[in-house]
Amino acid sequence: DTALDSGFFVRWMAAAAGLVDREAERLTELDSAIGDADHGANMQRGFAAVVKALEAEPPGTPGAVLVAAGRQLISTVGGASGPLYGTLLRRAGKGLGEAPQVTVAELQAGLRAGLAAVRELGGAAPGDKTMIDALEPAVAALDTSLAAAAEAADEGARSTVPMLARKGRASYLGERSVGHQDPGATSSALLFAALAEVAR
Ligand code: ADP
Ligand code: MG
Ligand code: MG
Repeated sequence: DTALDSGFFVRWMAAAAGLVDREAERLTELDSAIGDADHGANMQRGFAAVVKALEAEPPGTPGAVLVAAGRQLISTVGGASGPLYGTLLRRAGKGLGEAPQVTVAELQAGLRAGLAAVRELGGAAPGDKTMIDALEPAVAALDTSLAAAAEAADEGARSTVPMLARKGRASYLGERSVGHQDPGATSSALLFAALAEVAR
C-alpha cells in the first residue's frame, strides 16, 4: 500500500482548489436552482484560504494538513458547507494522528470518522440530497482505489438529481428541489477527483 506524506496532502488541497476554481460557475449555477447561488463563491473562498494557510505554514504530517485545511474552511466559509467540509477534514486529520505517512486504508478510516461527524453535525442521511450522497459512496470505494472513489463520488453526485431535498436550503423548495443536482454533492465529487488526480 502506497505511503502518502504531507506533501501529497498539500498537493491534494491545491488540486481541490484548482478544480473548485475551474468549476465555480457550475457550482453556483446548481446552487441558484435549489439554493442561494453562493456555493461556487463559498468553495473558492474556502479553498483559497486553505492553500494560502498551507503555503504560509506547511504542516509536517498528513493529519496536520487536514486539520489546518478544515480549520480554514470553518473560519472562512459562511455557508452550511464550510462547517460541514471543515468538520470532515478536521476530524479525518485528527484520525490520522501524528504519523508522517499514511496508507490509503488509514486515510479511508480517517475519512469514515470525518463522515460520521458530518452526519452528526448536519443530521443528513444518504438519500437526503446533500454532500453525504457523494461522500458516503466515495469513502466506501476508497479500499478499491482512489480512482474508484472519484468515480463513486461522481456517480453519487449524479444520483442526487431525482432526489427530494430533506436538509439545507434546498429542502425549503420541497418537490421543486427534484430534478436538480445537489451543489454540495457536486463539490464533494471535485474533492475526490482532486485526490485521484494527485495520485496519478
Ligand atoms: P448555504 O446553503 O448555506 O448557502 P452552500 O451553498 O455553500 O451553503 O452549501 C450548500 C450545500 O451544503 C448543499 O448543496 C448540501 O450538499 C450541503 N448541505 C446543506 N445542509 C446540509 C446538511 N444538513 N447536511 C449535509 N450537507 C448539507
Ligand atoms: Mg448556498
Ligand atoms: Mg449561503
